[in-house]
Amino acid sequence: MTGTESNDAALRPRSLTEYVGQAKLKDKLGVYLQAARGRGEALDHTLLFGPPGLGKTTLAHIIAYELGVNIRVTSGPAIEKPGDLAAILTNSLEEGDVLFIDEIHRLGRVAEEHLYPAMEDFKLDIVLGQGPAARTIELPLPRFTLVGATTRPGLITAPMRSRFGIIEHLEYYTAEEIAQNLLRDARLLGFDLDEAAALEIGGRSRGTMRIAKRLLRRVRDFTEVAGEPCISLERAHDALDKLGLDSAGLDDRDKKYLETLIHRFAGGPVGLDTLATAISEDALTLEDVYEPFLIQLGFIKRTPRGRVATAHAYDHLGLPPGNDLGF
Ligand code: ADP
Repeated sequence: MTGTESNDAALRPRSLTEYVGQAKLKDKLGVYLQAARGRGEALDHTLLFGPPGLGKTTLAHIIAYELGVNIRVTSGPAIEKPGDLAAILTNSLEEGDVLFIDEIHRLGRVAEEHLYPAMEDFKLDIVLGQGPAARTIELPLPRFTLVGATTRPGLITAPMRSRFGIIEHLEYYTAEEIAQNLLRDARLLGFDLDEAAALEIGGRSRGTMRIAKRLLRRVRDFTEVAGEPCISLERAHDALDKLGLDSAGLDDRDKKYLETLIHRFAGGPVGLDTLATAISEDALTLEDVYEPFLIQLGFIKRTPRGRVATAHAYDHLGLPPGNDLGF
């Protein structure tokens, strides 16, 4: 484990009260957890979706902590064949445990079908042998809670989705919420961080905790190398500028996206694949990582005819209003 990773693990909120923001989600989850605990039952299967770095994995750990059970962590791409699933479900799970599957939209097709009876009836059908001599045996499983996380809820199949009792969306964080968490991190790690500096970093983190934490580490580097005892607003400003982040938290690649959309395609509409090729990025990355935040800021819109830059985007880049078709 690297220093950064061990720091991160130590800073990870353990309980729901330590988890910043996501107020509506926390309220509901708090009730479901209390009810499950009261009945002495496993929590219903839970699907968490939202852009990367918003705290889905953290929440899965918190669910286990709040229920006083163990958590097993795996991911969709690691479960390709039914045998992979069987190994996880039969080897390590105990009654009430949480099984966390990250990127659950990437589960192998056949493995996914085997997961259905496991989720619904807590049993696993295992096929022994091949051909006409093959027979199926039914293996009982402990009642567990599956927590699935995905950045692509649209790729979750309908039968999979219908087996989750709790389906929740994580929102981008406000600058204030991020600042609150960064101040807590600084306190735990024992260094001085100005509130104004925390807010500045919060405002340039694309509403994403993971990005905020990374930016804080970089700003701290600049502060320490400058021989300053405390991370000030000025130092944060300066460091974030050096990192190429503008006032809205857009980085060079976001800006390239917007500039290409505006200059090469007259503000759109342009298809995702064409745009991706023009900026040498993978279409999935654009869709999962870049666009959700640009949409959240109101800089682009997804329309049936393609991507369109809005008047806000022109304004942000200091360009005269362009081809905003008002979709
Ligand atoms: P995801 O699984 O959605 O990609 P993670 O759960 O890995 O995101 O979170 C990324 C980082 O941000 C982790 O270091 C985590 O501890 C921190 N984090 C995320 N959400 C919160 C929150 N609400 N409060 C405090 N820390 C958070």
